[in-house]
Amino acid sequence: MIQVHQITVGSMGVCCYIVSCPETKQAGVVDPGGDVDHIIATVNDLGVDIKYIIATHGHPDHVCGNRALKEATGAQIVMHKDDVEFFEKPEVTSYFSMLGLEASPPTDVVVEEGDTITIGNCELQVIHTPGHTPGGMCLLNGKNLITGDTLFVGGLGRTDFPGGSQIDLLDSIRQKLLVLPEDTVVWPGHGYGGNRSTIGEEKRSNPFL
Ligand SMILES: [Zn+2]
Ligand SMILES: [Zn+2]
Repeated sequence: MIQVHQITVGSMGVCCYIVSCPETKQAGVVDPGGDVDHIIATVNDLGVDIKYIIATHGHPDHVCGNRALKEATGAQIVMHKDDVEFFEKPEVTSYFSMLGLEASPPTDVVVEEGDTITIGNCELQVIHTPGHTPGGMCLLNGKNLITGDTLFVGGLGRTDFPGGSQIDLLDSIRQKLLVLPEDTVVWPGHGYGGNRSTIGEEKRSNPFL
């Protein structure tokens, strides 16, 4: 089973994940939203090699470390096709450049629903969960689910940014996440209500579901 290591990075407090295969020491970094020196130091402490930089979605707070991390590691950037397309639009680019965060360099590996991202002997399953952004995705390996800004501990992702849809977000969570086993661990994209939860706990106590 994949190893999940969580660190909090950047001015927006993004939960960044180093996911690694214990047998091969191959790894991916999910959402390097800043503090790239800290991410690289953690990667070195863990003794793993970064193969992929994976964006749960294209928002600048989650991808602003992509360029520096790619330069340092040579890893390939992975994003869902709908966010690749959405975040290329000039009106979207200019909206988010107001935040002063760096956009991602071009995506190397475009994925969609049903794809898997292979890290050593482990596979991350891509679950397309539109709503927070058009191409938001969650990543599943066994009992570990990385939810990005789709599902937080006791909360949901915002849907008031361009491309957001509350109807889509609730559909995504109900149809694709809440159907997973109750002991599936939820690893959110920000630690607003806590840094980890389970699907069962969110079903019972998340007031927005
Ligand atoms: Zn976001
Ligand atoms: Zn975010």
